[in-house]
This record gives sequence, structure tokens and C-alpha cells, in this order.
Amino acid sequence: MSKGITSRSEDYSQWYNDLVIKADLAEYSAVRGCMVIKPYGYAIWERMQAILDKRFKETGHSNAYFPLFIPKSFFSKEASHVEGFATECAVVTHYRLKNDGNGQIVVDEDAKLEEELIVRPTSETIIWNTYRGWIESYRDLPILVNQWANVVRWEMRTRLFLRTAEFLWQEGHTAHATQEEAIAEAQQMLEVYADFAEGTLAVPVVRGRKTENERFAGALDTLCIEALMQDGKALQAGTSHFLGQNFAKAFDVKFTSKEGKLDYVWATSWGVSTRLMGALIMAHSDNQGLVLPPKLAPIQVVIVPIYKTDEEKANLDQYVHQLSAALKQLDISVKYDDRDTQRPGFKFAEWELKGVPLRVAIGARDMQNGTVELARRDTQTKETVQQAGLPDHIAALLDEIQQNIFKKALDFRTEHITEVESYDEFKKVLEEKGGFISAHWDGTVETEKRVKEETKATIRCIPLDAKEEEGVCIFTGKPSKQRVLFAKAY
Ligand code: AMP
Repeated sequence: MSKGITSRSEDYSQWYNDLVIKADLAEYSAVRGCMVIKPYGYAIWERMQAILDKRFKETGHSNAYFPLFIPKSFFSKEASHVEGFATECAVVTHYRLKNDGNGQIVVDEDAKLEEELIVRPTSETIIWNTYRGWIESYRDLPILVNQWANVVRWEMRTRLFLRTAEFLWQEGHTAHATQEEAIAEAQQMLEVYADFAEGTLAVPVVRGRKTENERFAGALDTLCIEALMQDGKALQAGTSHFLGQNFAKAFDVKFTSKEGKLDYVWATSWGVSTRLMGALIMAHSDNQGLVLPPKLAPIQVVIVPIYKTDEEKANLDQYVHQLSAALKQLDISVKYDDRDTQRPGFKFAEWELKGVPLRVAIGARDMQNGTVELARRDTQTKETVQQAGLPDHIAALLDEIQQNIFKKALDFRTEHITEVESYDEFKKVLEEKGGFISAHWDGTVETEKRVKEETKATIRCIPLDAKEEEGVCIFTGKPSKQRVLFAKAY
């Protein structure tokens, strides 16, 4: 099977696109900037959803659903929010089509909406308008709700999974009686995301805080997790916002406290999207295809039989049947690829492309010897192992693969965080090495914007674990108390 994947070192961007298409994850659709997520891609997204959804529920949240459309007037109620999203909104203006008499279907101008509707780019406004009816006193708080949905942001430059005009995501929207509780919630959800990214996606992330310039429109504080891709560019992998009382004030959501005092409700929102699929692909894959961490792989083990006669095949079937049952007992997902339309070599290449962590190949000679051949996707190594004790061996190997993939990504990231002391050094590292650049910054939006204009690098975050350190801003020479992380980003 010819894979036809562009080499990663030759053209990273094309390599990524080739992978997404060839591994059958997604493709562009007839609608600009919108993608079709294909069954194999969707199966990975479903794994992400299932694991995150469980964590959300463990931390006390419930799912609900709000409308796709938001009345335009809602948007104007929170000034910075509307300003942030205005340039990328899809607007519904009419509700009917008609035949123009010449066989053309046209918009019926008589069916104009009195108030235009915005296709949600995010749901704070419609949700806080709803919460007004749900909240009267402190007894009604907290509200811990999450929504799984699609949203639309009219992005001009799109890339499969990483940035699309329509994307799938979850958005948590919580309401609290106190500022402290809301801040704790935003921090908790950041930790849920960070843990998911590292423990499940095997992608190390920096937990940080966005600068004022990069903050979510309408938030007082935006926490984020930032990941590093193999080309040295950063990717914002998730955000958790402390919204203060901004939306409660905009939508007049008040509650009576225990002490009988009337106050506005405190809010958070947090989200991760199908962009995580892009992060997963870009962080681990190679020139042979996807490399999926076992915890996310829809198929963890693929078994390929190698045989000549029907009798050999029947013998293999019997063994594989037992092995599959034993693996399923251990909660390992397994596929027996016994298609008789493709040769083993083709199957090997195909499952390699699709990132299946472990391949078991077994032939007539193996059956005589009581062995199988195991191939690891992450290291591309093969070994012959005994059939006795195989299920436990496979379970242990899957754990090892999960850890190895994480370690590899972590080592790469560690090598790609560079401390610099001057702007010249900054530009040199950015050009020649990429990655995160840890540098002093004077804390002003002005400097941040100038650096971005000149180098395309943005401040990805102020790391939460940054130590206080006296220094001078690499750009202005003004005093600075801590380093921030710059990078070129997706
Ligand atoms: P935000 O509401 O802007 O904080 O974004 C929430 C999450 O959605 C973040 O994890 C973003 O990285 C992700 N995201 C934002 N815009 C897009 C997009 N156009 N396509 C895919 N994911 C996105």
C-alpha cells in the first residue's frame, strides 16, 4: 500500500494534511472552512468526549443543551464580548425561501426576521439570559452545567481540526455565590484539562494565564493549557475563564445571599474543542502515519492472520477468538483483520497509518511454536513472544507505550523551552529552533503587540508556576518580575 504522505521534515503543513486525509480522519466539505469528520476521526473524538464527560461528572457537573441561535441584541449586552466576536459571526436574517417564478430558488424578502439571529460562537449570552430565571437565592447556587455542541466562528484561515469555521466542543458555564468559589472552579477545570492532555492525550502542557491582550472577550482572567507541536509551534489546547460578574451584570442575574444581601452572581466558562484532535496528531505522528496513545485509540490491538490454506485459517481463527475474548476481559479493544481481499503487508501499512498501538501477526509456524509476532507502533519494533500469558503482556505493553509516547513529547518540549536574555537572541532562537521562548517582558500590551508585529511570536502564557525573578524586558529594557513564554502559534 502506497501511503503517499509528504515527509514531515520536507513540509510539515502538508504532512499534517496528508495524514488527516489518508488516515481517514476528516476532509474538507462543500462549505468553506467546514469539515466532514469521518468515522475513524469521529471515533477518536468520541473517546475524548467519553473520558472528559466522565471527569466533568466526577467534578459535579451535569450536561444540558441551549439553542444554536442567539438573538443579536443579547450580544450587545456585554461590550467587550460583542467586540471580540463581532468580526467572525454568522448571522441568520431570513426564515424562508421561495421560487422566483423562473425556476430559481431565492430568499423570500418578505420573510425577514424582526431580529437577526447569531449562530452561536460561544454561549455565555444565551445561557446567562436563561440563568436569570433559574437563580433567586444562594440556595440555587452553584449551577454547574456543561454543554456538548457545535459552534461557528467565521475564521478566515482554516486548517483541518486546528481551526475550522464550525467546530465541535464542550462549554462549561457555571454560576457561583462568591468570587473565591468561581476562581476555584476555573482553576479546577484547568487542572481537569491539563490532566486529560497529559494523562490521556500524552501531550505535555504548560498551565498558564493569558495576558490581557489574549484574554477571552468578556473574561477577567483566562487560564489556558499550551502544548508544543513537533514543528516547534505552540497550540492553545484549552481555556478556562473567570468571568467575574460581567455576564450577571449584563443579564441582570442577582441572588440573595445567606445574609439577605442582593448581589450579582459570579461566573466561569471553560472549553476544549475538536482542535484537540489536531494537537494529538501533530504532537505524536510520524512519516508512517498516526501514532495514537493507547488510552485514546479506538482500536488498541489489531490482529492479522497469515495463512495459505483454509485449514490454517480455521486453526488461527480458533486461537484468535480465544485471544480476543481474553483481551476484551481486560478492557482492551481489539480488531481481527481477517479480510481476504488484502494481503498482510497492505494491512500492516494501513494499521500503521491509522496509528493502532499494537499489531499482533500470527501464522501457521507461530501456531506450531506457540508464539506470535508483536509490533509496536510507537517504536516500530517487533518481537516474537509466547502465546502463554500474552493478554497480560499486551496490557503491560499498552501502558508502557502510553508512557513512552508522553515521555517522547515531554523530552521534545523540554529541549524546546529556551531562556533568552536579549531581543537578538530571542529572534535567533525563534528563527533557528522555534519552541517556547522564556523571556522577561515589561507587562504592557504595547510591547506584546510590537513583538508580535515584528516576529509573529505571541505571549502564549504566563506560566502558573513561574518563579519571581528580577530582570529586564527583552524589548524595552524596562524592569520585569517574571518570565513569560513566547512562541509562534497555530
Ligand atoms: P475560547 O472560547 O475562545 O476560549 O475557545 C475555547 C476552545 O476552543 C479553546 O480550547 C480553543 O483552542 C478552541 N478553539 C477556538 N477557536 C477554534 C476554532 N476555530 N477551531 C477549533 N477550535 C477552536
